[in-house]
Amino acid sequence: MNATYTQIYLDYNATTPCDEEVLNAMFPYYKMHFGNASSSHHPYGWLAGDAVENASKDIAKSLGISTKELVYTSGATESINSILKGLYSKNKEERNHIITSKTEHKAVLDVCEFLEAQGAKITYLDVTENGIIDIEQLERSITSETLVVAILLANNETGIIQPIDTISKICQSHGSLLFSDATQALGKINLDGFFNQVDYACFSGHKIYGPKGMGLTFIKEQSKHYLDAFIQGGGQQRSLRGGTYNTPGIVGLAKAINLMQTKQEAASTQMQELRDTLEKGLLAIDESIVNGKDMSRLPNTLNMSFKYVDGEHLLLALSRHMAVSNGSACNSAAVNPSHVLTAMGIPSALAFSSIRFSLGQYTTSEDIKKTIEIVSSEVAKLRASNILWERRSV
Ligand code: PLP
Repeated sequence: MNATYTQIYLDYNATTPCDEEVLNAMFPYYKMHFGNASSSHHPYGWLAGDAVENASKDIAKSLGISTKELVYTSGATESINSILKGLYSKNKEERNHIITSKTEHKAVLDVCEFLEAQGAKITYLDVTENGIIDIEQLERSITSETLVVAILLANNETGIIQPIDTISKICQSHGSLLFSDATQALGKINLDGFFNQVDYACFSGHKIYGPKGMGLTFIKEQSKHYLDAFIQGGGQQRSLRGGTYNTPGIVGLAKAINLMQTKQEAASTQMQELRDTLEKGLLAIDESIVNGKDMSRLPNTLNMSFKYVDGEHLLLALSRHMAVSNGSACNSAAVNPSHVLTAMGIPSALAFSSIRFSLGQYTTSEDIKKTIEIVSSEVAKLRASNILWERRSV
């Protein structure tokens, strides 16, 4: 991919390289057209203002929404914070119950924990062994007190896709709002119908070959009035998020979304073929398991556990050859297994032995071939020094 790294990159769910066309689109707005998009009294401002307006029109057209439904942020984490905190602060007297799931991204879980300390009542839905939220539990938990249901569209660790249409109907029948973190879904699956089903959603530039530090929040026109402003000051973005427009970032995000839209179908087909080859190759390793195998999953994501292997040791061994990840969370005291896999009922030992492979536009069949060889060999080496592997009952 470039001269600096010789490693195979299979961590596209963590981040993607910025597309050359995106960089080229952004560049003039750092240098020649550096004006403040809100400066309405001179051409510098007009040019930047036009760029923001055109970028917003392009994004809205690509996603099939209105420009009035877009708010730019610094990333999905900011969007999540702003939506959940903004809803709670404005509506807590009438409705103070939030429903989410145990397999959400930490950004959602940490904000919910924060709001719980402020007095919010939070329900964390279980998921089935297949990673899908417990729909019956949602139906039992949702009440007239429920302000918002926050469920991600596609999981970043397993790629498992939640049935947002069903969840949406349940929310509507109780007058509750629906927020869906669609950060991993954009560019990988078709989002037709999605924006009709949710009130709020968030996305991130750096997951789609766009700029880092750029996020996008979708706020349905009718659902805007439930929100407090994200950031006060300056009145930008219809007073929802003050602060000077990041003109280059917005232009770059629009370019990335536009490119992604033109490439999505072909890119998804290609990624899925390569992912399936990888899956088949790695399943040939004894005692290997695909987490979420038969579920509707993102085409680029493969989460596998290798029994009798310590995932941290495997990650370390693999790090000499490739960039992959696992969902373990480190804190000062200990390393904990992935909260997503443990919520799916996967035992800790197996969750610890899991690796996420996430493919992208630049993944080649040669990368996949090498990955199968390297992982098979490293797993075999680690097992050779594990007495439990020898003593397992076969
Ligand atoms: N939500 C999901 C599902 C993600 O995968 C990520 C990034 O890992 C985020 C939110 C946070 O995105 P950002 O880096 O733009 O804050």
